[in-house]
Amino acid sequence: MTTEKLNSIKNLVTAYSLKSPCNEKKVGCVIIDPSDDSILSFGANGNHTLDRCLCNGKDQCMHAEVSAICSALHCERSIRRFSLMCTNSPCTACASLIVRVGITTVYVLNTNSRTAGIEYLRENKVKVYILSEQNNKQG
Ligand SMILES: [Zn+2]
Ligand SMILES: [Zn+2]
Repeated sequence: MTTEKLNSIKNLVTAYSLKSPCNEKKVGCVIIDPSDDSILSFGANGNHTLDRCLCNGKDQCMHAEVSAICSALHCERSIRRFSLMCTNSPCTACASLIVRVGITTVYVLNTNSRTAGIEYLRENKVKVYILSEQNNKQG
């Protein structure tokens, strides 16, 4: 993917993260078709209609990665060997899902201090690219 294209998707996923209704943090995610670098689907964390936060200390919002992957699967297309870009590093549950659906490349904008998901992806042969210039230590 060209740097120009990468930057334009970076801007789109960042803008989409602002649609999240979550009170704790706003996360965005997109699924990218590597054949033409087009975006197949978007996701943000929240409830399924993105109008309510489900976090209450015990339960939490649906993660952006789950939302984007489910939307992509609604297109009734295989996303095997597709790419994913997310604004924050995936948790291990989302990393497992990413491996399970056959996504092979992941771009992460902010790693913060959470790296277990990234390690999980790399252990399972997913290529991970960290796009942030500086690693912001406080979420
Ligand atoms: Zn929430
Ligand atoms: Zn997650």
